[in-house]
Amino acid sequence: MRKQIAAANWKMNLTLAQAEMLVKDVLASQLDLKENQEAVFGIPFPYLVQMQNIIAGRPHIYTAAQNCSHKVSGAYTGEVSVEMLKSIGVPYVIIGHSERREYFKETNIELSEKVEMCFDYGLKPIFCCGEALEIREAGTQNNYVENQLEESLFHLSEERLTGFVIAYEPIWAIGTGKTATSEQAQEMHAHIRGILASHYSNQLAESVSILYGGSVKAANAKEIFGQPDVDGGLVGGASLKATEFVTIINSLK
Ligand code: PEP
Repeated sequence: MRKQIAAANWKMNLTLAQAEMLVKDVLASQLDLKENQEAVFGIPFPYLVQMQNIIAGRPHIYTAAQNCSHKVSGAYTGEVSVEMLKSIGVPYVIIGHSERREYFKETNIELSEKVEMCFDYGLKPIFCCGEALEIREAGTQNNYVENQLEESLFHLSEERLTGFVIAYEPIWAIGTGKTATSEQAQEMHAHIRGILASHYSNQLAESVSILYGGSVKAANAKEIFGQPDVDGGLVGGASLKATEFVTIINSLK
């Protein structure tokens, strides 16, 4: 059974004290995480160790870095390597968030290197894809997302991609309050699963968790996560409030 995941993406928000309070408040809440379900906190680099320590020993709850370098090590001032993340025990890395693609000009090819680097060091990528508004309006979103997957992932073996995590995040729905309808989310998720099935196999496609991201909140999580091909969410703004994020976690199916 593939994993259902509620993943927080804090982005560049919260002080250390606020971060500690948020994680502690979530952990102190009634979380109904079943065997195949996980809650993941996408934490800014400076607090990863502290949050790991707070979370330690709690089953089904993990940390994620929000980015990593595509280089192994060396003279790359300001970058954080996968080996560094591995050394502090971070299990997940968010790769290719649309803000990284847009503001830091990350390309599909660079992202393919980051994904491969994660696999080389045993970290689990959460690979983001999704189209901008003009692409949705032109009706070419299916081809656009397929191309993102093809250029970044399809050189990888079926073995590596088994149990992989993809986050479909239509850019027009991120931080805008404008959520894709549950039908739009399901349609794209089914498309992505279909692409995986045709490039690899049904078995691979069924093993991949496809999260939806874009203005998920407590009020809409249950309906979106209830779609057959939606395996949870990547959540920005609403993950900064403990009560909202707890409701989102408890909306996993
Ligand atoms: C995100 O940052 O990945 C995201 C989906 O943000 P928001 O939930 O705020 O739209």
